[in-house]
Amino acid sequence: MLCELCRRFHALGWASGTGGGISIREGERVWVAPSGVHKELVAEEDLFAIDLDGALVVPPRDPALRPSACTPLFLHAYRLREAGAVIHSHGKSAMLATLLGGDALRISRLEMIKGLAGHGYRDEVVVPILENTDREEELADTLEAAIRAHPRTHAVLVRAHGVYVWGRDWRQAKAHAEVYDYLFDVYVRMRELGVSR
Ligand SMILES: [Zn+2]
Repeated sequence: MLCELCRRFHALGWASGTGGGISIREGERVWVAPSGVHKELVAEEDLFAIDLDGALVVPPRDPALRPSACTPLFLHAYRLREAGAVIHSHGKSAMLATLLGGDALRISRLEMIKGLAGHGYRDEVVVPILENTDREEELADTLEAAIRAHPRTHAVLVRAHGVYVWGRDWRQAKAHAEVYDYLFDVYVRMRELGVSR
């Protein structure tokens, strides 16, 4: 399933140029794709399995491969939120939404908000925005702090970069990623149109 999701997310523009990433938890194991490879071409034999402390459990076929740079960030969502899958998107809507400023994106009273677990139509969705770093793994500490500070969020944005989204399993993580992508796109368009909710 991880490879299939990589193909789908690449087709959506969420993993262009080998960016982005996905991981799925299976009990105490976390499966992650390798770093710097074309996500739409990742095969089962290329995947790593690590434990929740990041220790290697199953290596990929090619020993030259390295786990995705997102791996320490994925582990925070698994440990702090009992996530079953985490998606990292470089989608344009997420990235553009962060360029509009602020330390969090806020949006409410849109039907699609119901697609986020624990949220109703009238709830305000608050997605924290982190400042980007030179290396992806350097985001791990600020991501952890943002997850702790925003117990209702299922996503954290990174300025001029993208978004991390999680769910209790891959199905919910995929649904959340699609809903957030919709909300980020609408947020940008609302600002263009000069309307607010
Ligand atoms: Zn990234």
